[in-house]
Amino acid sequence: MDARATYLQAMGLEDWRLREADPRLTPPRQALGAVPAPAAQLVPAGDQWNNIEIEVAACIRCELHQCRTRTVFGVGDRAADWLVVGEAPGAEEDRQGEPFVGRAGGLLNSMLRGIGLAREQVFIANILKCRPPNNRDPKPEEVAQCLPYLERQVALLKPRIMLAVGRIAAQNLLATDTPIGKLRGSVHAFGAAKIPLVVTYHPAYLLRSPTEKRKAWEDLKFARRVFNGIT
Ligand code: SF4
Repeated sequence: MDARATYLQAMGLEDWRLREADPRLTPPRQALGAVPAPAAQLVPAGDQWNNIEIEVAACIRCELHQCRTRTVFGVGDRAADWLVVGEAPGAEEDRQGEPFVGRAGGLLNSMLRGIGLAREQVFIANILKCRPPNNRDPKPEEVAQCLPYLERQVALLKPRIMLAVGRIAAQNLLATDTPIGKLRGSVHAFGAAKIPLVVTYHPAYLLRSPTEKRKAWEDLKFARRVFNGIT
């Protein structure tokens, strides 16, 4: 079974062909006009990534450092075009130190494969790098302390598109309290570089509400079209 079929089976949807996935239709990186030319950097990017990782591992900026097992820095290709951002580590992520593992992670992987992306081809991170106890929502002060790390990762990665996964990620990245249902289906802009950002549901929510999977599938196809410069 190919990747798309795997995803569709996981989502309970019919077969589908991604016309927009034709690489000949993918615009050059500059065409989106969303990412500025890289500034001259005195410190190599690899060293800057390592510096952030070391800072995060030792971070005590908010109270969540007291109950974490491990920080969850983010995982994937540090030159990826796609950045996926979720909410915060859950119990399994806290144990493994990696975002989106377990059943929700498996569904995210299937969703990405459905639009032609392997997990290894994207970078995956969260709004928070430490697990809130009992998976409660992040507190504003925790987000305020932790978001600068993600912003530094974004500045280094320079993604061509961001996928905000779930309400918490979408509302914090866009600094809004608009319901996720109203944030879906539009291209938002993140940060000064105005990186295109598309919103979809969190796979953990989709596992609890499988009837919403079709909407998430529409979001993923929409994001792929945005990336390909078709919308
Ligand atoms: S959640 Fe972020 S700010 Fe808080 S301790 Fe962890 S790394 Fe530091």
